[in-house]
Amino acid sequence: MAELHRLNRRTFLNRMGGSTVAVAFLSSGVLAACSSDGSVVPVASGPDGADLTSTTEGSTSNEVDSQDGESDAEGIRWQRVQMGGVSAYLIARGSEVAVVDTGNPNNIDKFDAALSTIGAQWGDVKHIILTHKHGDHVGGLPEVAGLASQASVYIGEADLSGAGDIAAEPINDGDEVFGLQIIGTPGHTAGHVSVLDVGAGFLVAGDALNERDGMLLGPNPQYTPDMETANASVKRLAERTFETVVFGHGNPLEGDASDAVVAFAQTI
Ligand SMILES: [Zn+2]
Repeated sequence: MAELHRLNRRTFLNRMGGSTVAVAFLSSGVLAACSSDGSVVPVASGPDGADLTSTTEGSTSNEVDSQDGESDAEGIRWQRVQMGGVSAYLIARGSEVAVVDTGNPNNIDKFDAALSTIGAQWGDVKHIILTHKHGDHVGGLPEVAGLASQASVYIGEADLSGAGDIAAEPINDGDEVFGLQIIGTPGHTAGHVSVLDVGAGFLVAGDALNERDGMLLGPNPQYTPDMETANASVKRLAERTFETVVFGHGNPLEGDASDAVVAFAQTI
């Protein structure tokens, strides 16, 4: 079930010749989810109440070559940490790991399994990047930061309150953390950021975009106070090039993913 995702230019090129991912588009009014509450609250599952678990679980087509031991300074390995309706991600470069989002509380077993899959331990986690302050993305922060005692915590400056009592470094558009570009994607929250590995073509969109049943969605208007800004953020993401995009809610979209975001951006 756990599947290692390894990305580098070689796999990128391999995928260029592979099958095309079919993507349909819905308007931004279609259900996607996130919490409306910016505080760090212990909630057992996504507060949206919607079942966002897509039915295409396990359908990803990544190479699973964690056993080859190959060292590629350019490449990253990424791993989804799926927690009910929300997902966090591990991004590993060499022996160092960044955690992007922490999900809801009480999911350390999911992180343990994901770290094991990429051959890492908590001591390898040097960065915790939070895409935004909603409880289903930062709720696990105290536990994750407690175990990743070597890690620095980063969150968008306007969402800094989401870190609660955990010391965090504010980040803004254009910053770089662990070789990852921070792209300001406000609207869903004022301090929402997305995280891009340019070399690998790997984007963590957080809740700036969502996916459901193979379809790209914008953030849920119900939980997005500034949809105009959120739509502008989608258009900013559409200016970038990436092969894979992963979401807080929904399954990863792999293979020429930025083309799909461009097409979606034209509908909003
Ligand atoms: Zn959210």
